[in-house]
Amino acid sequence: MESLLNVQNLVTSFRTADGKLPAVRGVSFSVQEGETLCIVGESGCGKSITTLSVMGLLPDNGEISEGSITFQGEELTHKKEEEMRKHRGNDISMIFQEPMTALNPVFTVGYQMMEPLHLHTKLNKKEKKSRAVELLTQVGLSDAEKVLKKYPHELSGGMRQRVMIAIALACNPSLLIADEPTTALDVTIQAQILDLIDDLKRDLGMGVVMVTHDMGVVAEVADRVMVMYAGHVVETGTVEEIFENPKHPYTKGLLASVPNVDDEEHSLEAIPGSLPNLNEKISGCRFHPRCPFATEKCKEEDPPRFQISNQHQSKCWLHEEATTNESRHEAYS
Ligand code: SF4
Ligand code: MG
Repeated sequence: MESLLNVQNLVTSFRTADGKLPAVRGVSFSVQEGETLCIVGESGCGKSITTLSVMGLLPDNGEISEGSITFQGEELTHKKEEEMRKHRGNDISMIFQEPMTALNPVFTVGYQMMEPLHLHTKLNKKEKKSRAVELLTQVGLSDAEKVLKKYPHELSGGMRQRVMIAIALACNPSLLIADEPTTALDVTIQAQILDLIDDLKRDLGMGVVMVTHDMGVVAEVADRVMVMYAGHVVETGTVEEIFENPKHPYTKGLLASVPNVDDEEHSLEAIPGSLPNLNEKISGCRFHPRCPFATEKCKEEDPPRFQISNQHQSKCWLHEEATTNESRHEAYS
């Protein structure tokens, strides 16, 4: 079966005063219809840049230097902005962390909901309005007619995020990319929004790419997980494989740093040290300065991706002698 989205050896770089610096260093993954792939890692690991590369929304100094991105079999990397605009908001949609910045404060919800329908469909005015009402109802906003007349600042954070999702769904996208869609929301609303995305995925058969730094979110929504560190994919697997049998020391660190679901402060800071800068030269495995298991070999040779099982890969020299679930807590405590 052909994948909905297929990314192969993606390298995305930024032109800076220090030269061309790679933020994404050879990333490969695929997403199927009706599947949620979670991309997880610390802020700055390259996960957002990966999705912006797919959307064709890199900042001006960013560029895809290598690799291929195909969507429904069609190559996207060489498309002109105008051609990408035909996909964005139509068959590929994106929702962002802070809907206040993505929604335009000077236009009503209704106006902003009509826009993608205007751009990508041939619906007349009345049909557009009834589609907008239908979408708002679908995302759980009961008084849809009223919401259409409101401005973004008149809505709560949770309502704004629902409006964003409704806009993203306006043209029945095949692929939804969500970058930290619930980070700015409180825990209850977060759970509702995640449930909503999950239901929509199931009902509409969308593929979903969810970017998050929160393993709690991953546990909630992922079918498959891709863990990124310093521009590399360090581990991929099904959600069960990643949670029950994590192989990469970084993944183990991420899991160990989730204290428990009731704790709102789950941060990744439990892993000592921080991500290297883009311009930092690190020999061997890029995680070695922070890895409790690093050996001399790790400092010299960059590990390849080892196949653990059919869908499970780990970019670590230790894959064969991978430690047990118990020892990951010892290593990071
Ligand atoms: Fe740690 Fe070595 Fe594995 Fe890198 S290759 S994650 S340094 S054990
Ligand atoms: Mg980000």
